[in-house]
Amino acid sequence: MSRSDVIQQTLPWQKVLSQAIASPAELLQQLQLPQSLLADANISSELFALRVPEPFLRRIRPGDPNDPLLLQVLPLQAEQQKISGYVTDPLQEADANHRDGLIHKYNGRVLLILTGACAINCRYCFRRHFPYQDNRLGPEQWQSVLDYIEADQGISEVIFSGGDPLAVPDSRLRKMIADLEQIPHLRRLRIHTRLPVMIPQRVTPELLDILQNSRLKTVMVLHSNHANEIDDEVREAIRLLRRADVQMLNQAVLLRGINNSVAVLKTLSESLFDAGVLPYYLFVFDPVEGAAHFDISDADAQRLMSQLQGELPGYLVPKLAREIPGRNAKTLLPVDSQPL
Ligand code: SF4
Repeated sequence: MSRSDVIQQTLPWQKVLSQAIASPAELLQQLQLPQSLLADANISSELFALRVPEPFLRRIRPGDPNDPLLLQVLPLQAEQQKISGYVTDPLQEADANHRDGLIHKYNGRVLLILTGACAINCRYCFRRHFPYQDNRLGPEQWQSVLDYIEADQGISEVIFSGGDPLAVPDSRLRKMIADLEQIPHLRRLRIHTRLPVMIPQRVTPELLDILQNSRLKTVMVLHSNHANEIDDEVREAIRLLRRADVQMLNQAVLLRGINNSVAVLKTLSESLFDAGVLPYYLFVFDPVEGAAHFDISDADAQRLMSQLQGELPGYLVPKLAREIPGRNAKTLLPVDSQPL
């Protein structure tokens, strides 16, 4: 089998997406996990639905309730606790929601919410309470978004976000990108997505054709938090994207119990680089309601990064950052070098 057959021999991505596990009982049964987890998983999945696609499921160790991939998707009792300081809109994006589907926070770039759909529901997601239903990009809203971008010559980059923007079919992406290409001052398209990691067959020949032939320079920012997420199929998807001239970066979130150790972060950076992806950001946790159990203090995060700097060349160390509402850029957290 040639390398490119690895992806093509599996089901179409839409089918894999539609067959994602949504029932806590099925998740526990497939992974041979104790039934004692079920009652709370049912309650917490009412707060934020469970969704686990099959390719990700395959990478979780059966029988291990502490598996770092499982902990990203399993609804736990801790989500039911309301803790002061953890809110539904931690980034206060509602204030920057200038048009339906458009968020304009930073100079020079706008973020478009293409869809509320995701391939996976990450329990720590800062948009787990986002009002996607108010941000549908129908034809009228899309024209309004285009008018907004066209009227501001200072905008040079459009960011496709969501949800997961690659949950949108290729035909619609092609039309949207073609419309954006008509705006002369746009230079770059950035796509923030977890889909090539969750369902590698999402990297279809049509998607590659669209990206390779766009006049906009394309950057794809993957979201992977742990090296166990990156298997041969993911590596193949990344190889195809790179071959289509897509610049590949990764952003991760620092999460208690999942990747808050130097060894795990080091392996993640090295695995990403082996696959052709540069580690870009490591975000400290955004204080979203229902996910406080993932949080790590800034001091611990900075200590970890300081140690990581001692283990890796600089280009493999992601920037430790946080988004602070109202600021005009991400805020980098200072990281000391290790004492000699
Ligand atoms: S894929 Fe991204 S937007 Fe979707 S739930 Fe996960 S973190 Fe949130």
